[in-house]
Amino acid sequence: MSLFLQVVSVSKAVEELRNLAVRCGDEPVPLSDALHRILARDVHTDVDIPGFTRSVVDGYAVRATDTMGSSDAIPSILPLRGRVAMGKSDSNSLRPVECIYVPTGGILPDGADAVVMIEHAEQIGGEVLIKKPVAYGENVLFFNEDFSRGEPVVKCYKKLSAQDIGVLAAAGCRDVPVVQRPKIGILSTGNELVPVTVRPQAGQVRDVNSYVIAAAIRDWGCSPVFYGIIRDEREALSTVICKATAECDAVLISGGSSKDDRDMVAAIIAEHGTVLVHGIAIAPGKPTIIGQCNGKPVIGLPGHPASAFIVLIAIVHHLITAMTGETDSSMRTLQATLGQNVSSSKGREEYVRVAVKDGIATPLFGKSGLLNTLVRSTGVVRVPAESEGLETGTRVEVIVW
Ligand code: AMP
Ligand code: MG
Repeated sequence: MSLFLQVVSVSKAVEELRNLAVRCGDEPVPLSDALHRILARDVHTDVDIPGFTRSVVDGYAVRATDTMGSSDAIPSILPLRGRVAMGKSDSNSLRPVECIYVPTGGILPDGADAVVMIEHAEQIGGEVLIKKPVAYGENVLFFNEDFSRGEPVVKCYKKLSAQDIGVLAAAGCRDVPVVQRPKIGILSTGNELVPVTVRPQAGQVRDVNSYVIAAAIRDWGCSPVFYGIIRDEREALSTVICKATAECDAVLISGGSSKDDRDMVAAIIAEHGTVLVHGIAIAPGKPTIIGQCNGKPVIGLPGHPASAFIVLIAIVHHLITAMTGETDSSMRTLQATLGQNVSSSKGREEYVRVAVKDGIATPLFGKSGLLNTLVRSTGVVRVPAESEGLETGTRVEVIVW
């Protein structure tokens, strides 16, 4: 039985798809390759950070009480007892009413509990004039104040930022346990499609989707596997779908997802597995298929590149995050004021492309087959299914491409 007329809501489609997701395994990668990978386990530090109490400024290590009441007019005068050398642990200890020079990052001498910045002091011969009092602990980072040995420094399922990589380095994590990249098969269907290297003749179009899909999923941490352009021939399509679902963690097929005679993707998925959804209440993107073959999720995306891209963002992205477990997977958004009315049919979730300038989101209306609005837009505004449109002046959240 055809499921095409049984259009489901976006949330139902996402739920069906997330249920198909199989969690990816993990693998170690060198720290230098771990940027933007998803951490598979909590990482604990193997040392106390810092491992010694140190100064965070260039200045004079003192006992804070010896600087009480110091001012420009009446400085405290402390004999200079020595200098701490960087990276060395053999400095003198400090006795009451004296000071020791300490560079930024140098060990705080025993007996000292604060550092007076060099800007607030003046050395005259063997003595230092302290012109500003310091409090206990001022300009000092105490032993393990940052992290204690064994403490988790970065939590699992976080996408690693540059800062995280730095903290992992401090924690001694040379090989980072990360979630394996989901391997996503990509195939484009259509007798009219030609590769990027070919100048299209009348009736032909270049394959855009393989590239746009691969680029989007790479951005989300996946490895694309290309299966090329497949003609609308049952045998050929069937063979490639079986091969791709055997070799990959999920498969994205574009084109051939609607109800034309040549649109046989749903029938092939049904033959080798199950079709769970055929038709989603989303615009653009209604002719979308969600199914399973060889135990792997298979998504049939609409052929129009702009529609395929919206389905990627609104639906497929949820599959990827369910596979990786990424904790903060929300897309980048910005707030803007709608510059024009947007009408929308009740009952379907609409994604309207907008160009944002000076805080105003101007809708770029156009036919779903146009490519130019994809590059001229900043992102999309989602109009919920229950809404009949949005009025000029409404504050909207723009999902930034
Ligand atoms: P379909 O979903 O197969 O009916 O295709 C809908 C429209 O999208 C047709 O105009 C196709 O030529 C076009 N299309 C399908 N696949 C691609 C692709 N990979 N790249 C660019 N356009 C495509
Ligand atoms: Mg087609």
